[in-house]
Amino acid sequence: MASVLLCTRGSQRLPRPPSLRSGGGCGWDSQRCRSSGAQGSSTGCPNWEDQSPTLVVPKQVFRLPGEPGAVTVAIAQSVSEWIGHPGQLWLVGSGPGALEQMTPAAQRAITQADVVIGYSLYLDLLKSRFRPGQIVEASPITQERQRAQRAIGLAQWGLRVAVVSSGDAGIYGMAGLVLEELRSQGWDGQTPSVQIFPGVSALQAAASRVGTPLMHDFCAISLSDLLTPWEVIEKRLEAAAAADFATALYNPRSQVRLEHLNRAQHIFLKHRDPETPVALVKAAYRAEEETTLTTLAQLHTLPVDMLTTVIIGNRSTKVYHQWMIAPRGYLGF
Ligand code: SAH
Repeated sequence: MASVLLCTRGSQRLPRPPSLRSGGGCGWDSQRCRSSGAQGSSTGCPNWEDQSPTLVVPKQVFRLPGEPGAVTVAIAQSVSEWIGHPGQLWLVGSGPGALEQMTPAAQRAITQADVVIGYSLYLDLLKSRFRPGQIVEASPITQERQRAQRAIGLAQWGLRVAVVSSGDAGIYGMAGLVLEELRSQGWDGQTPSVQIFPGVSALQAAASRVGTPLMHDFCAISLSDLLTPWEVIEKRLEAAAAADFATALYNPRSQVRLEHLNRAQHIFLKHRDPETPVALVKAAYRAEEETTLTTLAQLHTLPVDMLTTVIIGNRSTKVYHQWMIAPRGYLGF
């Protein structure tokens, strides 16, 4: 619960909103949560539903005999702190991992934000860009929709909220979820304002480690059926394979999704030579990085996990020493 003390002396008006405090866990000061008596959410934090402030001490004017001017005091109490500017949502791509692969604009956004929200693993990589007093909210990877709603709620309150996605926020990232959610809430397109900070996506990072597999026409397909029905994914795999697109597969395998990559391999084998070059790039630009070049026929024999991007070459892709090369044009290669 926040109190707002407004003092005026003569013509000078001194609004004094309480300062933001940072905390661990959910990001809110736990003492403040407890002492406020606010309704707790599932994370143990208050629900910041709109509640009108109550006037605790009505306006009072004090004058000293013989002194010019006066002091006016009023105290109001509200659930949320007073913030005197409209909120901003910054949808930030943090790149593949190493901080130096993140754009300076994206790094600046992280430092300037009042609140930084993201999946804990990505936030760990950004620690050096945090500043004291910032609120940092880490959440599990699965809670993307809740993360989007939370970010919007805080921005509606007037905060500058950075929502972090790995790679590019607009490619299988949080930016889409935030815009979708804003739309469903009847957002006016203006407030809170939205800015998207692009990042190096996994397909670019992975390609750079093996050569130029995405030099010509290519596409990206995610094998995750958490938010997309598998039939749609299969249709796109068929179409990409038939159209000879070099193809970057995101989310190729998870602990529960073991078969999808094999099915993708099977679909591509219907349209491409078994010797088609394939790159497996795990954790590009991170300490655990591993790169393997293989062929479409051998793809199922190698370990692939959730941190891997798989790049399947097109009919013109060649391997030369350790380099995977898709030609810039197809004349005379
Ligand atoms: N927004 C991200 C993609 C998130 S989906 C981007 O633009 O890159 C998560 C998938 O991205 C992972 O399953 C993996 O396929 C891929 N990925 C993310 N970071 C990666 C990295 N450092 N190296 C290889 N693949 C990565």
